[in-house]
Amino acid sequence: MKEIVIAAPRGFCAGVDRAISIVERALEVFGVPLYVHHEIVHNKYVVESLRAKGVIFVDSIDEIPHDQTVIFSAHGVSPAVTKAAKEKNLKILDATCPLVTKVHIEARRYARDGYQIVLIGHKDHIEARGTYGEAPDQITIVETLDDIEALEFTKDVKLAYITQTTLSVRDTRGLIERLKERFPQIEGPNSSDICYATTNRQEAVSVIAPNTDVMFVIGSKNSSNSNRLKEIAEAQGTKAYLIDNADDLKAEYFANGIEKIGLTAGASAPEILVRKVTERLRNEFGFNSIKEVRLKNEDVTFKLPTELKGP
Ligand code: SF4
Repeated sequence: MKEIVIAAPRGFCAGVDRAISIVERALEVFGVPLYVHHEIVHNKYVVESLRAKGVIFVDSIDEIPHDQTVIFSAHGVSPAVTKAAKEKNLKILDATCPLVTKVHIEARRYARDGYQIVLIGHKDHIEARGTYGEAPDQITIVETLDDIEALEFTKDVKLAYITQTTLSVRDTRGLIERLKERFPQIEGPNSSDICYATTNRQEAVSVIAPNTDVMFVIGSKNSSNSNRLKEIAEAQGTKAYLIDNADDLKAEYFANGIEKIGLTAGASAPEILVRKVTERLRNEFGFNSIKEVRLKNEDVTFKLPTELKGP
């Protein structure tokens, strides 16, 4: 029998849930025009749904007229962005995930105490850019082992590492080990700053993927944590596809006797997309048996900013 195994936990994390709620509440409280700096979360469906309600997404504060309301996305912003927003007298609502804010605070603390900081992250990812902006003169971003080999700190330099929140747990462990070998004086968090949601979704994929013929990860191309889920399935030897929605399923994916599909969703992908993908897999491709494999329960929630809380 053709089967779908759905991973849990999957989909929305507490930071994404909060960020989207902030935009929805801000629409109710302040109305439009409402500006969001960068995509609120990296998911096409979410962004298009909010755009349809009148939200204007911008990549730069320059695009926003004076005295308007701006929401900072879940990925966080550099102090320079906050400064630019204040200079235009914008009303700021900060949807930065508290777990990203925690990394910013670490960066500021290390910078203040005179450390050079190695930020493990993707150089072009908006979260890493925001964290980097906390102390550009003291932070070096590294992505690979080669980047670490190229570092030239001496043994007497005060050195610390921090990480982006949505990296591969396994790859990051390897990078931290190498940093510690090269620079025994380096300080940092006990393991990394990778968040609970990223960790849990990766663990679920690594359990499910080896027992499936193909793995589908629902998530947008620019979603860091979704890309990592695909890579983790592939690292287990399972063919994996990153899809935005049910329309992305192609008949060729089911050639060669595919009997068992693994399915998960990145932290910014809503559950409605999982339902639609499952429906299409059942109705068009004959995957009639559906089971969920749950590795962990999650009960993390983050509060909304006071001014957006209901009565
Ligand atoms: S993936 Fe992690 S860091 Fe990013 S918004 Fe979700 S909980 Fe926060």
